[in-house]
Amino acid sequence: MSKYWSPIVSTLKPYVAGEQPRIANLVKLNTNENPYGPSPRALEAIRHAADDRLRLYPDPSALELRQAIASLHGVNADDVFVGNGSDEVLAHTFMGLLNHEAPLLYPDITYSFYPVYSQLYGIETQQVPLDENFGIRLSDYDQHCGAIILPNPNAPTGIGLPLSEIEALVAAHPDQPVVIDEAYIDFGGDSAIALTRKYPNLLVVQTFSKSRSLAGMRVGFAIGQRPLIDALERVKDSFNSYPLDKLAQVSAKAAIEDVEWFKTCCDRIIASRTRVVSGLEQRGFRVLPSLANFVFATHPDFAGADLAAKLRERAVLVRHFAKPRIDAYLRISIGTEEECDRLIEALDDILAD
Ligand SMILES: *Cc1c(COP(=O)(O)O)cnc(C)c1O
Repeated sequence: MSKYWSPIVSTLKPYVAGEQPRIANLVKLNTNENPYGPSPRALEAIRHAADDRLRLYPDPSALELRQAIASLHGVNADDVFVGNGSDEVLAHTFMGLLNHEAPLLYPDITYSFYPVYSQLYGIETQQVPLDENFGIRLSDYDQHCGAIILPNPNAPTGIGLPLSEIEALVAAHPDQPVVIDEAYIDFGGDSAIALTRKYPNLLVVQTFSKSRSLAGMRVGFAIGQRPLIDALERVKDSFNSYPLDKLAQVSAKAAIEDVEWFKTCCDRIIASRTRVVSGLEQRGFRVLPSLANFVFATHPDFAGADLAAKLRERAVLVRHFAKPRIDAYLRISIGTEEECDRLIEALDDILAD
């Protein structure tokens, strides 16, 4: 607290990011980063662009990047909005599309930035409880509301909804914006992007941080029909006209174009996920069915925080959320094959104690 603060500052409850510690030989499975690194073509694009042209402002509309995203997904560049990480895209979405008279609906267990943005922008919300198996039950969203947002697959559960259910939700709420946050869609889910052509109320948000391994560049995007994108652009140009620097624009474009690298890395992560799930189940864990690059798991003999601490002592970092209903669970990102082995070895060591 300080007398210099604007009044709103003391009321904020900021998001707490997973830690980025400097521990030697650390197996870092706490923030869902991609273990395989960006496409070599993205790195080459950065090297190529790192010269004295950086004295110029970047393209404020990131047109070439938007065209690359549009052509990958079969939409027009005008239907694509890009931002400084999907967190920024989401922030503009909350401000520009999700603040209405009736409450915004989202799951009680979900991406923990949603309540933060809601509070920042003074949005009335109604949290909808997941069912007893941590699934999203769409009939629970049949209620008076101003808008809906949910991740598919959901975080931190990793559970995905089939596209038919997403479509049913969007179709059932023609008068409300419905935002699907697809941060983890490339690890086995079905994207709703194609549905944006049919439904004017649907906005789909994705990120380059997970499947494209560019968390350090901060690039995210949204796809929807023009009136939704217009709202985001109006907010963006009232906040920061150049959210994506030059290096972010060129590297993200190259990452989109390197389809082979993308597919290979996603396939390896999916294969490792299968191995981690069976390794955990063999050791007595309950693991929720995951379509993401992480698993959400609990062991009957350990409290979540306790197990996270024991893993940390063995230089394996995972994420624990001290929250009702999920306090016993750990969210474990899928690393390289070697990192997954080290996770399992650390667990064997803990279980043998
Ligand atoms: C990681 C994540 C994001 C944010 O990604 P950035 O593009 O790195 O800001 C958004 N939504 C969910 C559900 C995420 O897990």
